[in-house]
Amino acid sequence: MTPIHVIGGGLAGSEAAWQIAQAGLDVVLHEMRPVRKTDAHQSDGLAELVCSNSFRSDDSEQNAVGLIHYELRQLGSLIMSSADANQVPAGSALAVDREGFSQAVTRALENHPRIRIEREEIAGFPPADWEKVIIATGPLTSPSLSNSILEKSGEDALAFFDAIAPIVHFESIDLSKAWFQSRYDKVGPGGTGKDYLNCPMDREQYEAFIDALLGGETADFKEWEADTPYFDGCLPIEVMAARGRETLRHGPMKPMGLTNAHNPDVKAYAVVQLRQDNALGTLYNMVGFQTKLKYGAQADIFRMIPGLENAQFARLGGLHRNTFLNSPKVLDDTLRLKADPRLRFAGQITGCEGYVESASVGCMAGLFAVMEARGQEIVSPPQTTAIGALLGHITGGHITREDGAGKPGSFQPMNVNFGLFPPVEAPNKDENGKRLKGKDKARAKKLAMTNRAKDDFSKWLSGQGLQKAAAE
Ligand code: FAD
Repeated sequence: MTPIHVIGGGLAGSEAAWQIAQAGLDVVLHEMRPVRKTDAHQSDGLAELVCSNSFRSDDSEQNAVGLIHYELRQLGSLIMSSADANQVPAGSALAVDREGFSQAVTRALENHPRIRIEREEIAGFPPADWEKVIIATGPLTSPSLSNSILEKSGEDALAFFDAIAPIVHFESIDLSKAWFQSRYDKVGPGGTGKDYLNCPMDREQYEAFIDALLGGETADFKEWEADTPYFDGCLPIEVMAARGRETLRHGPMKPMGLTNAHNPDVKAYAVVQLRQDNALGTLYNMVGFQTKLKYGAQADIFRMIPGLENAQFARLGGLHRNTFLNSPKVLDDTLRLKADPRLRFAGQITGCEGYVESASVGCMAGLFAVMEARGQEIVSPPQTTAIGALLGHITGGHITREDGAGKPGSFQPMNVNFGLFPPVEAPNKDENGKRLKGKDKARAKKLAMTNRAKDDFSKWLSGQGLQKAAAE
């Protein structure tokens, strides 16, 4: 059997190469560093962590990212075993010594008899005689490769954004203040006329909000990001506010065509709109609220909005360079490029966000390639699992219907979070029959979700004949 080629030795590519080799197939891993550098990586090591050294929460009962840690460990993940071996104290989070971690991954891959590492840039479309290829070149994919992917996929541009808006968990929005209504009750394709959640502000609240935005601390740009222009029509909200105190009231916060269902006689001075962000309706994004405010400032300022006082954010806004594919459109369910199915994609380039998420998509791309090479039917983990929920987001779980402005719903990168999981039945009483409320109720719900995920993951895993490969 010819080797499987993995391009990019980051979090995703390293994990993909490991899974394939552990299953007994040969791999060639192509990594361009140190021959060619990226703007963010500092070393020659594989699986370099470009920024923080944290893999975030390791709590697999109450946290979706902790659940991904659990599932990856079940799959014999190299990224997780290297992280565990290089852990540094960080409370309930899994943080690592970044050099030790990267060295452990590099050594394991270099020493594996089934893996050959080539330090070279794949500077155009992968050669035609490579039968199976995994592209895991990350958010900083070299331009010659990204241009050729673009050409092949038939997309106008690899999706590229520099500002993102926060996403809020639906259940944390106060519906005694917010109401459902589309502007002018417009019914778009697939819509109901009640497709947006609206949060009203009076004049005083609006003025205080503008003051807070103007005073909020913004994130610093890295040098290489300084020339990045703002995405057309996607100005950070604080930049708009700085152009004039009324700008937002005539832009994303305009109150026209909306009537407060809780107080129909009083016209709102400004309105913040939220739009459903996933098919399950568990997540809502803040329309037009892309921002480069620092995370702490965002949470404080956005909780000033009536209805969002207790908002829990699935993702905060941010501004950084990021290259990713419009995956739901160009990839199939098993991460293959529809226009050339010998190519699979993995990692952040597919539209997941974060180290662990990238590693888990790399893990699945590797396992899918193994199943395919063995002539096995490819079955993804169910959407009730953390990895399955993330794959669902990447390959099609997003909203596709048009928004009020007539634009197709856009696919945006996402960290794993419970909003991507289908709802679960959770006990509403404790063991003494006392009704659960507040935090206790939320904890019971998360526990029910993670218990379900673990059961379903284990059923899926035992059905794939992968456990042996993972343990070898
Ligand atoms: P990478 O880890 O970037 O790996 C891609 C690899 O492909 C690189 O080694 C690169 O050299 C190689 N490559 C690129 N093009 C080619 C080519 N043509 N031929 C051969 N090799 C190639 N996530 C977090 O969880 N926490 C953070 O704090 C964080 N901070 C970030 C800061 C910045 C500036 C950026 C850009 C991203 C950050 N991320 C963070 C996201 C992070 O990039 C991803 O989580 C993760 O590294 C992506 O994994 P990956 O394997 O997809 O890509």
